[in-house]
Amino acid sequence: MNSDLKTSLRPFHHDRAGGALSCDGVSLGTLAKKYGTPLYVYSANQIAERLDLFQQAFSGRDHLVCYAVKANSSLAILKLLAERGAGFDIVSGGELERVIAAAPEAVGRVVFSGVGKTATEIDRALEMEILEFNVESESELALLAECARMIKKRARFALRVNPDVFAETHPYISTGLREHKFGIDIRRAAEIYRKAAKSRWLEPHGISVHIGSQIRSAQPFGAAMDRVVKLVTQLKREGIALKVVDAGGGLGIDYHGGEDGADPAAKVLEYAAAIEKALAGSDGKLLIEPGRFIVAQAGALVTRVLNVKKNGKKTFVITDAAMNDLIRPALYQAYHEIVPVKPRAGRARAVDVVGPVCETGDFFARDRMLKPVEAGDLVALLDAGAYGMAQSSNYNTRFRPAEVLVEGKQHRLIRRREEMKDLLATEII
Ligand SMILES: *Cc1c(COP(=O)(O)O)cnc(C)c1O
Repeated sequence: MNSDLKTSLRPFHHDRAGGALSCDGVSLGTLAKKYGTPLYVYSANQIAERLDLFQQAFSGRDHLVCYAVKANSSLAILKLLAERGAGFDIVSGGELERVIAAAPEAVGRVVFSGVGKTATEIDRALEMEILEFNVESESELALLAECARMIKKRARFALRVNPDVFAETHPYISTGLREHKFGIDIRRAAEIYRKAAKSRWLEPHGISVHIGSQIRSAQPFGAAMDRVVKLVTQLKREGIALKVVDAGGGLGIDYHGGEDGADPAAKVLEYAAAIEKALAGSDGKLLIEPGRFIVAQAGALVTRVLNVKKNGKKTFVITDAAMNDLIRPALYQAYHEIVPVKPRAGRARAVDVVGPVCETGDFFARDRMLKPVEAGDLVALLDAGAYGMAQSSNYNTRFRPAEVLVEGKQHRLIRRREEMKDLLATEII
C-alpha cells in the first residue's frame, strides 16, 4: 500500500468538535459563498486514493481499472483518473465522447458495455479503437460483426455473461440473475464463442460479468468469478484463448458509515482476495469496473436551508437542492447522511428534509434526527459523489448545480451552474 496515502472514509470533517465542516480542510461555507448552492463538492485526493487502492490490491497481476463513467462523468474527474492510469467502462456513445474530450490518450483503455448499442455508437467506438466491446446478446454480436465488416476493422469482443448469482442489493441495481435483462446466459456462452471464432470480423478477446451495484459482500463477486473461470478454462481447451477477464464493478460503500464505518482499504483487499481466489492459476489480464466505490464518498451535495416549516406534528426542512439534483433517495430509498455545515447548539429532532419540487417523492430524508437548523444554514448530504450529478435532471425547470473540485488546498469550478439559456438552447417554439 502506498504509505503516504492514508485511507479515510470521507474527506469531509468538522475542523474540531462543534466546528465547521470542510473538504480536505477547505471550508464548505467558503465554497458555498463563492460558487452558490446547491453545489457538488469533490475531493480529488480521495478519488485518486480510491483508484490507488484497487491498483495496489491487484498489483500482483496484469490488470486495468476501468472506472465506470456513469457513476460520475464530469470531465475533470475523468481526466484525473486517466492521468493515474485508469481505463473506462462506458455504456453509451455519449460517454465515449466524454472520454475522448477529457483524455483522448485513454481511449485504448475503454470497454463498451450496455444492453442496447446502436450501429452509430459501435462505428464510432471501432473507429476510435477501444479496447473491447462487452457484448450482451447474439443479435448485438451480429451487429458488431456487420459494423466491423463495413469499415474493415476486426472487433475485439467479450461476452457479458449472466452468471446467475444473487447479490444482496436494491432490486433496481441487481443485474446478475437470469431473469434480468443483462448479459447472456452463461450456459449458452461457449456455443456463441465457438461460432464467433469463425468470423473474420470478430476477435474473441475477453469475457465479462457485472452482477449489480452497491454490493457490500465479497462473496458474490467470488462466486461469479468461479463460474467465469470455469468457462474460460473450457474455451481454452477448445483452442479459444481469451486474453481478458472483466470482473465488472459493483463494490458498495457504507452509506451509514459515520466515522466508524468499515475501512475502505480493508474492503478493497477483501474484494480482491475473493477475485484472486477464483482466478488462482489463470493468467491473462484482469479488468475491473468500479464506479461508486471510487467517487461516492469523495463527494457531497451542499445545500442551503430555505425554510423550516411545521405541518401538524411534522417538521420539514426545505432545502434549495431537490430530487432533480440528487434522485437517489426518491429512486432507491437511498440513505444519505445529512450534516449541518456549522452546527448549532441544541438537541437533535426528527425532521423531514425535502426539496422544493412539486412531488411528494422529493425528499432526502424522512424522520431523520437532525441538529437544529434555521433558514439560511448550510447542510451537506454526504456520499453524493456517485450517481448524484450523473443522474440529475432539469425537472421543474431547475438549473443543474455547479461542481467544484478540491485539489489539496486549492479549489476550482469544474462545471458552472446552468442558466436559463442552457435550458432553452435546444427548444423550438
Ligand atoms: C454501472 C456499472 C458499473 C459500475 O457499478 P458501480 O456499482 O458503480 O461500481 C460497472 N460495470 C457495468 C457494466 C455497469 O453497468
